[in-house]
Amino acid sequence: MSWSLLLLAMGLLVLGCERRMVGEGTGPAMSGEGVEGTVVKSDAEWRKELTPEQYAVLREKGTERPFTGEYDHTFERGTYVCAACGNELFTSDTKFNSGCGWPAFYAAKAGDRVKLTQDYSHGMSRVEVTCARCGSHLGHIFNDAPDQPTGQRYCINSVSLKFIPAPR
Ligand code: FE
Repeated sequence: MSWSLLLLAMGLLVLGCERRMVGEGTGPAMSGEGVEGTVVKSDAEWRKELTPEQYAVLREKGTERPFTGEYDHTFERGTYVCAACGNELFTSDTKFNSGCGWPAFYAAKAGDRVKLTQDYSHGMSRVEVTCARCGSHLGHIFNDAPDQPTGQRYCINSVSLKFIPAPR
């Protein structure tokens, strides 16, 4: 094998590893969690489909600035779906005004719509919320809403969601 071929082969190996690692961190829920139609796409595909703001939050676990999101003060009746894959995540019935600057829900539409993962990034201990179908980052969940039925606050980026108003 010539050197150039060897280098090419090594390059492909490295690329393959990186791809797997990305998939592990942001990929879909493990099989057997009851989510139909798991969505797996390459970073290039997500970049093409999402706006830069959506990509930064959904695929790179970014956070939109508080009080800037489209749905922070939306309280119409309807459903909130994943902006990346359309998975129905939350309904307006569980949305409340937490005053934190991001949309807040006290429950997901159904437990298997989201995946919860311990997150130690940025020197904090938090629980990350991702879409169970496509693995996209949505926000975090906190146990700091004692006045809500579950006591929990799903703190979700507006940019991760798309609101579908209920039919009138
Ligand atoms: Fe999704």
